[in-house]
Amino acid sequence: MSTHYETRGAQALIRLDHPPVNGLGAALRADLLRSLDRALADAQVTAIVVTGSERAFSGGADVKEFNTPNALREPRLPALIAAFEASPKPVIAAIAGVCMGGGLELALGAHYRVAKADAQIALPEVKLGLLPGAGGTQRLPRAVGLETALNMIASGATMPAAKLKGTALFDEVVDGDPVAAALALAAKVVADKLPRKRLRDAKVSDAQAEAFLQFARNTVGAASKHFPAPLRCVEAVGWSVSKPFDEALRLEREAFLTLMATPQSRALRHIFAAERAAAKIDGVPEGTPLRPIAKVGIVGAGTMGGGIAMNFANAGIAVALLETKQEALDKGVATIRRNYDNSAKKGRLSEAQVAERMALIAPTLGYDAMRDADLVIEAVFEDIAVKQQVFKTLDEVCKPGAILASNTSALNLNTIAGFTKRPRDVIGLHFFSPANVMRLLEIVRGEQTAPDVLATCMAIAKKIKKIGVVSGVCDGFIGNRMLARYGAAANGLLLQGALPQQVDKALEAFGFAMGPFRVGDLAGLDIGWAGRKRRAAENPAAAQRVVADALCEQGRFGQKTGAGWYRYEPGARDPIPDPLVTAIIESFRNERGIAARHVGDDEVVERCVFALVNEGARILDEKIAARASDIDLVYLNGYGFPQHRGGPMLHADIVGLPNVVRALQRFAAEPGAEAWWQPAPLLQQLADDGKTFN
Ligand code: NAD
Repeated sequence: MSTHYETRGAQALIRLDHPPVNGLGAALRADLLRSLDRALADAQVTAIVVTGSERAFSGGADVKEFNTPNALREPRLPALIAAFEASPKPVIAAIAGVCMGGGLELALGAHYRVAKADAQIALPEVKLGLLPGAGGTQRLPRAVGLETALNMIASGATMPAAKLKGTALFDEVVDGDPVAAALALAAKVVADKLPRKRLRDAKVSDAQAEAFLQFARNTVGAASKHFPAPLRCVEAVGWSVSKPFDEALRLEREAFLTLMATPQSRALRHIFAAERAAAKIDGVPEGTPLRPIAKVGIVGAGTMGGGIAMNFANAGIAVALLETKQEALDKGVATIRRNYDNSAKKGRLSEAQVAERMALIAPTLGYDAMRDADLVIEAVFEDIAVKQQVFKTLDEVCKPGAILASNTSALNLNTIAGFTKRPRDVIGLHFFSPANVMRLLEIVRGEQTAPDVLATCMAIAKKIKKIGVVSGVCDGFIGNRMLARYGAAANGLLLQGALPQQVDKALEAFGFAMGPFRVGDLAGLDIGWAGRKRRAAENPAAAQRVVADALCEQGRFGQKTGAGWYRYEPGARDPIPDPLVTAIIESFRNERGIAARHVGDDEVVERCVFALVNEGARILDEKIAARASDIDLVYLNGYGFPQHRGGPMLHADIVGLPNVVRALQRFAAEPGAEAWWQPAPLLQQLADDGKTFN
């Protein structure tokens, strides 16, 4: 049973009992209806109190039932709420903890509501590309007024019940036990013959309604470019003013179902599920004991080390930050302070918070500070000899059980683990730049990394508000390995006949915040150039000259030199197409005897995005990633893949894998095409079998 039923004198107490958050799955909904009928059938019962646990009245729909037949099983939520609302005996909701989505909609169907002051109230459906589909858009405005309801529904934001005190949402907001208060209120309602208040009977009175709705349409529309849901929320809330209740309910339900079928909602629900799935790691059973992490050591206070240190200080964890020279240490600490000061100037942090966080970061020049660290993250130069020296020293000084992590982008983690006598404690923690901002954390699993080390790092990722995704060891891990193909596809387009500005525009129209050439100019073209020169020296036979080499030879490193793929006016960041670049590209084509052809925007997107998908399929096949949705998370959170498309692998599923395969075959068949354009065997197999990645 997922509800608990008891009588307290003349009152029935129905308790939702479906941990952890009383998700309103099919079984719970059916039980609730049975409990209601039982209370109605019992002549001794005069009033009904509905409550949940201290932790949750109800978190809303049961996410485990998303996309299963159970989600559609009767009684569905609207019918259940209607039954409670129609109850001839007064229904009082007693709310503590989470009261969200369908849970709040259920409470809105009660005749009275009592909440604990710190109960968390929200209609978060918009975050999944939906709107509340069980009366929330109609009853909430009647309870809290048009403006508050609209803000809550269009943003999905959570409010403490205390903030909504004084509105018709709550008859009482209490600090103590809401159930006791609700039982007392129930007794009073019966004794005083107070009416059963139904929100459906209330009117939304707002003289400024139309003006406010118009304002909301403008602001919400502008802020939700690729997503239809927020604007539909505004519209639906508007119906609470303009339409009769039942007609509005019907329209709301229709809008809900329409949104449910949009690719944007599919993408957001995919991301939601992907973030939960990523925490499940092969060979790491749920409940694996975690190693306590109270102090973190960071070796190297450069670009990455400084940002990484901030993540831990922000989470209240003490950090020892190590450099070899005072000068480098001072520079690193000064950068951290400047970052915090900037946040303070923008009002995001108080002076006291800045001081608190700076105090958590202890700069040091000696390894003594690493002795009691529970986790050490190395972020020194990307040079295997330097890493070797650092890991040998860490192995000597760190306490047993300390986790030793490397932030390396491209070196082999197994080799690094081999520098120690404790390879089971070694792991890769690959942060992205700027490390204090970017949400992605690739957690690189070495051949010998211990399960509890993985589990601990996954928990740490959450603690520092990152999306942790486990990757196996390979060149570039998941993200950079895919990025290499994306870059190669974009560069190949230049040889085919496209120009940087066209490639960028097409990919920006697809939804990337910036196309690859603008990103290159922002990041600096010299970094890639140095890498290519190094690799060419190591392996001259495999070296291939690319257009970017010609740009770099002319000192065009991007924004920082005023010119790269574009040119820039002094002090400005707007990319201006440059005929000099066009000439360089043309001479490149001429040297290779390639005649430029017209390249359509669709082809630009197909080549760049399917190159990602194809490499993703190989990564999946090699078990570098455990599941396609992990790859999506990497690309969404580390590489600016458009959220509304849900990641490259979901995008491929939506386009249809046979279509992806056919396009790749076309590209692979062109004269001179590189071998990696051949469809990956796994992709081909899934397409042949009529399956999808997800
Ligand atoms: P950086 O040059 O900005 O910083 C490296 C710092 O390490 C310098 O301050 C240097 O003084 C210090 N250092 C060098 N040897 C040391 C030693 N033996 N002991 C203590 N400190 C030492 O480099 P970065 O960009 O921060 O990169 C650091 C690591 O992170 C590299 O492995 C890199 O591949 C990786 N990484 C970089 C990025 C990025 O975008 N910059 C992204 C992900 C990962």
